[in-house]
Amino acid sequence: MKRNNSLEEIAAALRDARTVLLFPHIAIDGDTLGSSVALCAALRKAGKTAHVVVEETLPDMVSFLDKGYCTEDPKLPARPDVCICVDCNEYRRFPKRQTLFRSGALRVCVDHHKTSEPFFDLNYIDGDAAATAEIVYELISLLGIEIDKEIGGAIYVGLVTDTGKFQYSNTTQKTHLIAARLHEIGVRASDISILLYQNERMEKRLLESRILGDAERFADDRAVISRITQKMLRETGGRLDETDGVVEALRDIRGVEVACLLKEKSARTIKVSLRSKRDFDVAAFSAENGGGGHARAAGFTVRGRGIDAVKSLLMQQLADLFS
Ligand code: 5GP
Ligand code: MN
Repeated sequence: MKRNNSLEEIAAALRDARTVLLFPHIAIDGDTLGSSVALCAALRKAGKTAHVVVEETLPDMVSFLDKGYCTEDPKLPARPDVCICVDCNEYRRFPKRQTLFRSGALRVCVDHHKTSEPFFDLNYIDGDAAATAEIVYELISLLGIEIDKEIGGAIYVGLVTDTGKFQYSNTTQKTHLIAARLHEIGVRASDISILLYQNERMEKRLLESRILGDAERFADDRAVISRITQKMLRETGGRLDETDGVVEALRDIRGVEVACLLKEKSARTIKVSLRSKRDFDVAAFSAENGGGGHARAAGFTVRGRGIDAVKSLLMQQLADLFS
């Protein structure tokens, strides 16, 4: 069994490295990409060759973060000194980049999911960090690299997205202190909010209205479930990668404790997103179904069943837990 290392050990490995590749998880979100971009920019500033390697088109919401850091090119560079998976710790979260990740002389994980276990050569998993971006802030500070407005902006994106705009129970004094430091160096929260939250495509809004229209409450209205089918995407022009905020809108309904959103990636591959308001541990529920995440936000993928079958199954499982 691998152990958790100190952040100083990871900083030391990065000081020695010349080439570093960063691996955000699939279904890219603000924290995984913001953290990867921040670290990549900082390492480049320190004279290293660094790239963020991705296997999907960046979601609209966070694509502004990529100022030449992200690449889909698997050929570059051969045998990197360090490969770091950011905000995840398993190959399933970066499936098409596994071989490249394994080619790293040293394999590192930086993550804040409580369901993550140390698995690679060096691991820093802090389940109490509100976002991986908090850890990356400390790592860059340990490396003695100055956090400028661009690096700070990327860190801020991780903080604001993973804490639901500083509203969730994972938000701590530390989260606010880091945000305050970023403000000091010129990161403007309102500018980033416009880029992240006030920049929606109309098609996304149309899709959202369909998802909300399809929502079904059950378990004495303490649970709610809805779905996105390929047909809904065709009819609205919406995309699967731009549904952020929708499962949260379902959770926000009065009386609802657990919200569930099913995404039909293909006929027999269904991505499940779960959110909870107070006590229901969706990370534990997701881990039982082969996924993971946080107590209040988690998910998993079901393969080999259609969306209707997954929906009935989930409703049954959740109704049992609430009875
Ligand atoms: P979302 O519902 O937004 O896709 O994910 C919510 C949270 O659960 C994120 O922190 C994400 O990393 C985690 N998560 C979602 N799907 C999976 C999964 O299949 N496996 C694991 N380990 N974590 C997941
Ligand atoms: Mn995160």
